[in-house]
Amino acid sequence: MKYQELVDVYSNLEATTKRLEKIDIISDYLKTLDSDTIEQVGLLILGVVFPAWSSEEIGIGAKLVERAVGEAIGTTPEMVEDAVRDEGDIGLACIKLYAKKSQMTFFSKPLTIDFVFKSLQKLSKISGPRSTNRKISIILELLSQASATEAKYLTRTITEELRIGVGDGIVRDAIAQAFDIDKKVVERAQMLTNDFSVVAKTAKEQGSEGLKKLNLTPGTPVKPMLAQLAPPLDEIIPEMGCAICETKYDGIRLQVHRNKDEIKIFTRRLENITHALPEVVDLFDEHMPHEDYIVEGEVIATRDGKPLPFQNILHRVRRKHNVEEAIENVPLKLFLFDVLYYKVPMIDEALIKRRETLENIVDTSVDEMNLSTELVGTADNIPEVQKLFETSIKEGHEGIMIKDCSEGYIPGLRGKKMLKYKAEPETLDMVIIGGTYGIGKRGDFVGSYLVALRDENDDFKSVAYAATGLDDATLEYLTEKMKELEITTKGREIKVEPKIVLEIAFSEIVESPEYETGYSLRFPVVKNIRKDKSPMDADTVERLISMYNTGN
Ligand code: AMP
Repeated sequence: MKYQELVDVYSNLEATTKRLEKIDIISDYLKTLDSDTIEQVGLLILGVVFPAWSSEEIGIGAKLVERAVGEAIGTTPEMVEDAVRDEGDIGLACIKLYAKKSQMTFFSKPLTIDFVFKSLQKLSKISGPRSTNRKISIILELLSQASATEAKYLTRTITEELRIGVGDGIVRDAIAQAFDIDKKVVERAQMLTNDFSVVAKTAKEQGSEGLKKLNLTPGTPVKPMLAQLAPPLDEIIPEMGCAICETKYDGIRLQVHRNKDEIKIFTRRLENITHALPEVVDLFDEHMPHEDYIVEGEVIATRDGKPLPFQNILHRVRRKHNVEEAIENVPLKLFLFDVLYYKVPMIDEALIKRRETLENIVDTSVDEMNLSTELVGTADNIPEVQKLFETSIKEGHEGIMIKDCSEGYIPGLRGKKMLKYKAEPETLDMVIIGGTYGIGKRGDFVGSYLVALRDENDDFKSVAYAATGLDDATLEYLTEKMKELEITTKGREIKVEPKIVLEIAFSEIVESPEYETGYSLRFPVVKNIRKDKSPMDADTVERLISMYNTGN
């Protein structure tokens, strides 16, 4: 299959911001592909050549790509650099530069998807002496056969910035639509495998039944089940009926896998950090059965038995050198809370059964290896749950987790079955740059606020729409203010000058191509109007990204 066909799809996707149109474009294209190609396109459509679980990456810096572009079109790297600066992006710079390409390679063979995919995968494997030259020659081979639009998307793929506004959700829905499969089935398969190449191929070849058979494999990380903020205890515990309530530790979530003799440790973002935590590997080897398993827990740093601030554990995990020294200085403690696989997949078992299995398999005879402190909450013992929360805070932890006893483990889901009850929610001070008027009775009020953060040029870049947390009087006040600051109003959408600062609480930062920062917030709630703050005092995009990278 020709790469140009995929490139046409990229162009069409870039030309629309409408989600449904994007889904139609991808779905129509997937239907035309054979099994081998769909496997590759399942990844290329997201601008990657390795699945999300893999720690492999293309790993080529922008400078190297600029050098290769220069060589491909017979110009200097400086000229390429200028074009990138003018156009703001390597892809657009290629369009400009290729128009002037001096020696067109007539009669060259057209690029195929297979050749592009395999060449890009090869790039990650090159290391050692002369690796830069070898990488350049692979990129050059691609670029010198490429058309201008092919070069645009090739260079963007290599630099890992495809910029076509396509994320996991759109690809998932497109696969479902192409092969007439329930979205939920596709989603589950994706959460379990974290690999759209497997999901797309299986959907094409075996349909819904094939996807349902995909399951966990120890060694391949699974998207963790996530937590929402909990409503008051006296509301949620009776609603669940039976709730496992556990101390919420302020550390890093680990997913530990054993496959035969190999133990691997992943973060909640599926990053393999086994190398940074050798003593944790030893703990698992010595205090867990030598069977295949996947367990989850939180690891915290301690000193004199007290939890240390979260930053300490982060340093441990990020460390590449002098790991031995760090082991001495920052002793770790593990608190396991779930088992997803023990000899067989267990995610469909009720939590209470999984917990029982966990208790049976973990040897907690050493100080470092623990199960999370828990109690089973019911409508009759809410004061005890409250006490667990208070003790947790007193001991320097974050609060408690509240989990439905009868639920299975739903990878990647942030639902009502696992909740966090914390002393303080996360907040950012953000600036209103626009909003949407309500409908019907609420048509006079701006009901949903487009909030933004400052970037390094002091421009405000959108992050999310916040629509909850305000009473009617405040909505009215904000609407009036926004009318004074109006730049344009089109239909129900208003754009305003960035002047009003809101404190926004949220449960998590997620990647999102729909907003200018490339990130968004889950469950944004307006906490306060920060009249004491000017837009220049608002939080920054840099802080958002740093919070994202540290798992909030
Ligand atoms: P948050 O990061 O605020 O969304 O809260 C969810 C996170 O709390 C999980 O991803 C874990 O890293 C962490 N956590 C700490 N203790 C527990 C526990 N006992 N059960 C589940 N998650 C926990």
